[in-house]
Amino acid sequence: MFDTAKEIDGFLRQLFSICRSITGNGNRETLRVLQEIIPLTLHEVSSGTRVYDWVVPDEWNIRDASISTMDNRRIVDFKENNLHLVSYSEPVKGTYTWNELQSHLHLHPEIPEAVPYRTSYYKRDWGFCVTAAQYRELEQQKVPFKVVIDSSLEPGSLTYGEMLISGQSRREILISCYICHPAMANDSLSGVLLTAFLARELLAKRDRYYSYRIVFVPETIGAVTYCALNESAMKRIDTALVITTVGGPGKFGYKKSFDASHVINRLIEEVLNETGEEYLIYPFDIHGSDERQYSSQGFRINTATICRDRYYEYPQYHTSLDNLDFVTARQISETLVLYRRLIEKFEALRYYRNTLPDCEVMLSRHGLYPETGGAQQPELNGRSELDIILWLLFLCDGSLDIDSIACRLNVLSSELLAVAGKLVSKGVLEIV
Ligand code: ZN
Repeated sequence: MFDTAKEIDGFLRQLFSICRSITGNGNRETLRVLQEIIPLTLHEVSSGTRVYDWVVPDEWNIRDASISTMDNRRIVDFKENNLHLVSYSEPVKGTYTWNELQSHLHLHPEIPEAVPYRTSYYKRDWGFCVTAAQYRELEQQKVPFKVVIDSSLEPGSLTYGEMLISGQSRREILISCYICHPAMANDSLSGVLLTAFLARELLAKRDRYYSYRIVFVPETIGAVTYCALNESAMKRIDTALVITTVGGPGKFGYKKSFDASHVINRLIEEVLNETGEEYLIYPFDIHGSDERQYSSQGFRINTATICRDRYYEYPQYHTSLDNLDFVTARQISETLVLYRRLIEKFEALRYYRNTLPDCEVMLSRHGLYPETGGAQQPELNGRSELDIILWLLFLCDGSLDIDSIACRLNVLSSELLAVAGKLVSKGVLEIV
């Protein structure tokens, strides 16, 4: 694990200060760096492309931005921290008085030393995010300021990265993360790097059962775009992980998928219980990350997230304090271990299907029924071999895994597997 943490650390430092957004060269640069970890394919989707109810926006690129005194002393400097500029700020070059500038400044409501993270993707605007000290310094100046935003906002494209890893089964698991946040480490560079390292492990894994669809998209518009352009494949997917905020120092937590009884939630709880540590559970909610798209009516993919200091929950969220003091490669690699265990559990799931689903199977024809009829009553706890056979034939329709059935019947998976094996040998069950 030490080596992985060391590698993650190198990439954290390399990627942290790149100015990412929902489009632009920062995203391309980030994805190209990730290609050093995994063979990602990059896709470009033109501005103006209609994707369901959304439209891919113009591409934004930023070279420099500052608020300076008339003698060119920079008070607010994008090059010091890219959070100083509201993402998607349109180009500006001019002289502004304090009164004119004030409405374009954003302060964190609670933490004076924090630079807040603000965006204006769908309203043409510009602005700067400052600390309380910078705000005071600007306010005290009696003379106008030079404001420069050397940006471009014009037709171009939205960039996303994708990698498909095939397994024995064509059944896919979606693993998604978002690449649109500038200089913040937990939300969500931590998720981007964990996804890349998890993908590298999946690629190296022998005898993969499932196929994996790994996507690196800008949040919301990128996930919507991905769904629209890959609609038929995405509509076949049943399970997904959105990997974000995985590198804080706090407790592990997980956000459930919309169907609390879905197997992904049970497996995540098993993984978390095995750590022996307390963890947080967030029920499904319509707020959150790209599970909002993947769980929507048209797709209904059960999407869960294992996290550590989840978005919304930690004071440094969406500020300059979500930095490399708060997030460490070791913390990310500890969460990576949990995702690795989750995948192992997923890979171990087994599904069976009744080969004779129309009415009951005539058990005696297959040597599965006690020879003297009439005396068979369900046992008190309903757990004789005959009961288990009947339940297996009732429940095994190819969609419910054997561990879920074991939980439901309150028997050991090993007992159930033994009986299932017998039914497979008689030809009345088949492994899906
Ligand atoms: Zn965020």
